[in-house]
Order: sequence, then C-alpha cells, then structure tokens
Amino acid sequence: MINEKMYALGATKSKIRELFEYGKELSAKIGAENVFDYTLGNPSVPCPEKVTSVIINEVQNPSIHGYTSAQGNLPVRKAICNYNLKRYGFELSPELTYMTCGAAAGLAITLKAIISSPSDKVLTFAPYFPEYKVFAENAGATLITAPCSEVFDIDAKLVKDVICSDVQAVILNSPNNPSGTVYTEDALISLASLLQSKEKEYGHPIYLIADEPYREILFDGAVCPFIPKYYKNTVICYSYSKALSVPGERIGYVSVSPSCDNAQKLYLAIAGAGRSLGYVCAPSLFQKVIELCVDEVADTSIYKDNRDALIKVLNSSGFTCVNPKGAFYIFMKSPTPNAEDFCDYAKTLGLLLVPSNSFGVNGYVRLATCISPDLITRSEQAFIKLGKHYGLI
Ligand code: PLP
Repeated sequence: MINEKMYALGATKSKIRELFEYGKELSAKIGAENVFDYTLGNPSVPCPEKVTSVIINEVQNPSIHGYTSAQGNLPVRKAICNYNLKRYGFELSPELTYMTCGAAAGLAITLKAIISSPSDKVLTFAPYFPEYKVFAENAGATLITAPCSEVFDIDAKLVKDVICSDVQAVILNSPNNPSGTVYTEDALISLASLLQSKEKEYGHPIYLIADEPYREILFDGAVCPFIPKYYKNTVICYSYSKALSVPGERIGYVSVSPSCDNAQKLYLAIAGAGRSLGYVCAPSLFQKVIELCVDEVADTSIYKDNRDALIKVLNSSGFTCVNPKGAFYIFMKSPTPNAEDFCDYAKTLGLLLVPSNSFGVNGYVRLATCISPDLITRSEQAFIKLGKHYGLI
C-alpha cells in the first residue's frame, strides 16, 4: 500500500512551481527575453562576502562534515541567543533552541509537537503561505484562517469571529508572504490580548508561532516587532534563507520563548518531532557559518528599488496595490474577481503571475520582486497591454 495523502502531495505541484516550470518551457519556445517570470521567491542577491569566506575556510576542516548534536551544536545556539539579546533586548535560551533545515522544517516539527488530537486546529491569517496547510495537516490538525484588514494587517475583531477552543496554535508571518505587510505593533498588541483572554477562557495555552524568514527585509523605516516581547507563549521559527540569501543551504532554527507555558516540555516535544520525522542535525557546515556570521545580512536594498520600479509600471498600466513594507512580494488586485482567469490571460503576454487562490484569498495576484531590475523594464510593454485589455487605461 502507498499512502494516498502523501502521493497526492507529491503528485501535485504547487501553483508557483507549476508556473515556474511553464516559464522554462515557454522560454525554450519563444525565447527567455519574452518571458517575464514573477513567480518564485528565490533571493536574487549574493550572500554576504563573510559568509562565502567562512564557507571556504570551514569546508577545509575535516571534522565539519560529521554529525552534530540532534538539536544543533551548542556554540551556534548560544550565538543566536546572544544576537537576539543584543538586537531585541530579549533573552532566548540555547537550551530551548533547535537548529533546523530552514523555517519549513521548523514549522513542521513545531506543529507536530503541539498538535495532539484530530479535532485540533491551527489558525493563520489570510493571505498566507500555502505550505501552512500541508504542515498543519501533516501534524494531524485542520488549518483555519482569519481574514486580514483591507491593507492586509491583522484585525483582532476578525480573529475573534473564527477562533475556537480547538485552536492550539496560531501562525503569524511578518513581513508577510504574499502581501509584504509588516504587521503593526498595535495589531500585535490587540492580537496578544485576544489570545491571552482566549487561553483563560479555553483553559489551555495557544502557542503563537512566529514564522520569520523575512524579518530583515524591511522598507521605508518599517519596524518588525519582536513577538516574544508581546506574547509569552511564542515559538520563533526563523530562517536564514532570505536574510543571508542561502535558501538552498537549508538553515534556520526554532526557539521556544523561555516564558512559554511548559517551555521545557514543548522544547523536548519539538526535539521528539524532529527525531520522529528525521529532522535532526541540521547541516553542520551551515551551523558553523551561522555561528560565525550571526549578525550578517545580505544587501537586500535592491528589493526596495525593484518594488518602487514595479509599482510605477503597474500603476501606469492601471493596476493598484498596497505598498508592501517588507519581504519581496507585491500583492496586486486582479481586475477580475477570478484571478486565475486573469493570470491565464497574462500568460499569453509572457507575464507569469501567481493567482491568490493558493494563498487563501480570491481576487489578487502575487508578483515576486526578487528579480533582476532588467526584467521590470522589459516587461513594461506587456503590463501596458494587459492594462489596456482590461480597460484600465
Ligand atoms: N515561511 C514563509 C512565509 C516562506 O515564504 C517560506 C519560503 O519561501 C518559508 C516559510 C520556508 O522557508 P525556508 O524553509 O527556506 O526557511
């Protein structure tokens, strides 16, 4: 027998991957210069020079290729906690920090550690990163969503309408993929207060999982509040994929806030989930890289320049969007309620855009801005044709 659920997951590509593959086929047919691929969130900037030189040095160390502790080496976990203390004035504990293969593994094992009954639910905010559904379901829970406000901020009033006693965990992703929103401090304070009152009402903790791969990518002076300062039952799932521009190296961590209810037990359950799923001993070379480069960040200023240039092109083609304050995506309103139809038409002009359905909302499209600036210039005429087709200009 083969597990049908796993088969279905493996046999169906995500919409983003499907479009990316289509883009490659189209490039072979009509030439790469006529394909404008805005689909994939793959960082387009090099990693910091220090990261490269540490890799070159450390790869020559014969012991670097050995197993590490299942939870990761103590020096890197200490370096991470020292960095967070210096940067945010909040003390995390190396004893509650677990090195992972990026945020994806961190989310998967954290959910697995928390979910214990088939009636359990995980709540997130729409629009959301599509893999949350996969991770929540694999942990045995159902994903439910609360809508965001019109400008894609969290609105505690809307959360109140959907939260119920089965909710054991809430996933919060700021800066957000796909909307680019950096949730405001006021919104987080209201959410924290709602969750605290619901914990009392329901008689169990509601763990807030802060999924933070875009924490360092902020524009226009935006500030991304450090969630453990606002809510005691926080678990951080951090990733270096975007901050250091090393997504293929698979490195990140989970850190259980020391103020969490049953922090030690939760941490051990995360370690147990890591063990049961085979997510132990994150890449050793990259544990060393993080230990030595913990305060490095790739130069991501191009994402802001791309955002500005692309919004200009979109606006002059008649499209509207909220100006994103972080991450590297623009979430643009589709001129037709059915964003899939809109994206299908855009494809005929060589424009590859991701319809919002897979992010849990209708009527929008996502454009990744981690691209070469040249792509924006080359695609301008296609956007103008698209705007004209829909009568926007
Ligand atoms: N969470 C969000 C919101 C993402 O956008 C991504 C990747 O794009 C991930 C998690 C997973 O990132 P990684 O596993 O590379 O750290």
